[in-house]
Amino acid sequence: MAYIPSEKRYSSMKYNRCGNSGVLLPAVSLGLWHNFGYVDNFETATNMITRAFDLGITHFDLANNYGPPPGSAESNFGKILKKELANHRDELIISSKAGYDMWAGPYGEWGSKKYLIASLDQSLKRMGLDYVDIFYSHRFDPETPLEETMMALDLMVRQGKALYVGISSYDAVQTKKAYTILEELGTPLLIHQPRYSMFDRWIEDGLTDVLKEKKVGCIPFSPLAQGLLTNKYLKGIPEHSRATKNVFLKPGQITDAKINKISALNDLAVQRNQTLAQMALAWVLRYDVVTTVLIGASSVQQVEDCVACLNNKDFTSEELERIELILK
Ligand code: NDP
Repeated sequence: MAYIPSEKRYSSMKYNRCGNSGVLLPAVSLGLWHNFGYVDNFETATNMITRAFDLGITHFDLANNYGPPPGSAESNFGKILKKELANHRDELIISSKAGYDMWAGPYGEWGSKKYLIASLDQSLKRMGLDYVDIFYSHRFDPETPLEETMMALDLMVRQGKALYVGISSYDAVQTKKAYTILEELGTPLLIHQPRYSMFDRWIEDGLTDVLKEKKVGCIPFSPLAQGLLTNKYLKGIPEHSRATKNVFLKPGQITDAKINKISALNDLAVQRNQTLAQMALAWVLRYDVVTTVLIGASSVQQVEDCVACLNNKDFTSEELERIELILK
């Protein structure tokens, strides 16, 4: 049966302004790093995208290397777009990135103009798009002049191949410099994509001050610490979970000390009448600098569970203090 988007898709999602721009992003966005490659189940991938859209998620985040194999998440997303959402392109914010290893030879990674421009062209072909809404420099390149990387982003916008630009995982000093170069070029820095969760709070030590001062949006990735901040690892490592893949999340990271913290957080979440995943996302959204939380998922149920964090996203000061004590 052909997919028909829900008419109620905009009734409950919250949309937040991204920094000092005209763009509104849904409070929850969906990333395609895992579970959307050729190795994954295409029907589940399709169902996650359509269910997310029905729940008001308008922002889908990709990168050149998402898969596996690299590039296949973009190809699959292109197929899903064409088949299910062809008439809804103007309702979507689609992002891609380049920075990590993508193809052989000296021009297949980091931050040169040569690599970034070629990579965006490849991403557009894979997704069947004329433009992406946001294009990111995926990581800071210590060897390439930052001016060159930013000029590449500016060129993409001038070519009409990207509407807005962002940076990912740049530290506070690098971000300030990137912001200034882009401002001089006339292409504003829309958004920063850093890792942030209860278990990884590096952005609180300077980066968020820069984002606030410059009015740049913030889209934290891995807000569930890749699944650790959910109830799924409380009783061991379940089959098919990310930890079983032993690549980005390794069983060795799931120590007794960590499980004790997760368990204490889970108790608090239960008292708040929500799942731990929902509490962990609400906690990220409590930070006024955050525009949207960028989740990953391996099933439609997870997407639904995560979006429902919006039903209870306020914390009392006692709850926040209790979380600080648990995380100590
Ligand atoms: P999360 O921290 O949200 O982890 C997602 C994983 O958590 C899922 O795959 C699933 O694990 C588990 N999960 C999700 N929801 C639930 C739930 N309700 N209950 C139980 N378990 C749940 O984010 P990701 O690490 O996946 O990153 C999100 C996105 O951020 C990526 O897709 C990508 O777009 C972006 N990203 C960007 C990076 C960058 O350098 N800019 C780097 C990394 C990510 P399981 O699969 O085991 O079921």
